[in-house]
Amino acid sequence: KLYNQVQDLRGNIRVYCRVRPFMPGKPNHLSTVEDLDERTITILTPSKYGKEGRKSFTFNKVFGPSASQEEVFADTQPLIRSVLDGYNVCIFAYGQTGSGKTHTMTGPPELTKESVGVNFRALSDLFLISEQRKDTIAYDVSVQMIEIYNEQVRDLLVMDEIRNNSQNGVNVPDANLVHVTSTSDVINLMNLGQKNRAVGSTAMNIRSSRSHSCLTVHVQGRYVTSGTVVRGCMHLVDLAGSERVDKSEAVGDRLKEAQHINKSLSALGDVISSLAQKQSHVPYRNSKLTQLLQDSLGGQAKTLMFVHISPEPDTLGETISTLKFAERVS
Ligand code: ADP
Ligand code: MG
Repeated sequence: KLYNQVQDLRGNIRVYCRVRPFMPGKPNHLSTVEDLDERTITILTPSKYGKEGRKSFTFNKVFGPSASQEEVFADTQPLIRSVLDGYNVCIFAYGQTGSGKTHTMTGPPELTKESVGVNFRALSDLFLISEQRKDTIAYDVSVQMIEIYNEQVRDLLVMDEIRNNSQNGVNVPDANLVHVTSTSDVINLMNLGQKNRAVGSTAMNIRSSRSHSCLTVHVQGRYVTSGTVVRGCMHLVDLAGSERVDKSEAVGDRLKEAQHINKSLSALGDVISSLAQKQSHVPYRNSKLTQLLQDSLGGQAKTLMFVHISPEPDTLGETISTLKFAERVS
């Protein structure tokens, strides 16, 4: 494998924290974020959580409410080059429902050139760099899109015209792998995936916050002269909302969903924290998500976790548990 030219990616696990702005039209009350800089965020807390009513958390990077999509992507970009160099990469969006996960990964409901998120920017970079390298390496790109709901995997790229093309080493068994040659191909597939996600679900927003969605990009490059092949893949994962469901209120399906989400997010936390601590046993088998991503978590693979927090005081409890999760995996 080629060495990664990017020296600023020390270690293979990075955690970035992003704070959502107050929603327009909502009362602009005091934020629970007292202060932040490039790497540290300080939260105002009730005294039971920390001394003197505040607690600080340190990450590889902190993005405040005014950070643009472009700024956020600028610190993600080196990973895209890694994929083309033959590394496996996972990018996760973690946080309670409404904290900005989909905004980071996909963008707001009305997409513009400025507002598109990491997924689109990553793909357009991937095509751009592969174009620049085309005299040396011929790249082939294909994508898969799946959803994990209640520990069941569902292929989101189901369409009669799509043929299963499994030559690139599918690591999500049986999910369609679709060859793409441009960013607009990918956007069309993402739209199809979104549509398929909504099928059979009366409340699409509820469903989408209760499932993990994963866009996987497989890249294969062949050196024009030697014929040597390099393979890399990138998983872009919009995780289910991390909020705790009130046990006294959740019954039936809601309770089952909550238990599955809880289990898979803590399994993900366990895997990443055991990798961060370089433990010899990594518990991949405890959830569908970590099983599917096993080849892309650990070893030479690179992981980026975006943890999202909301600024409103009524979400303080969730904000603190999100930051504690983030602290555990970094
Ligand atoms: P989640 O996917 O975590 O449930 P969303 O991404 O849907 O949250 O965000 C909730 C709302 O807040 C959406 O209307 C979204 O467009 C908006 N939002 C989230 N993050 C930002 C941000 N950084 N800047 C502007 N609006 C944001
Ligand atoms: Mg979302």
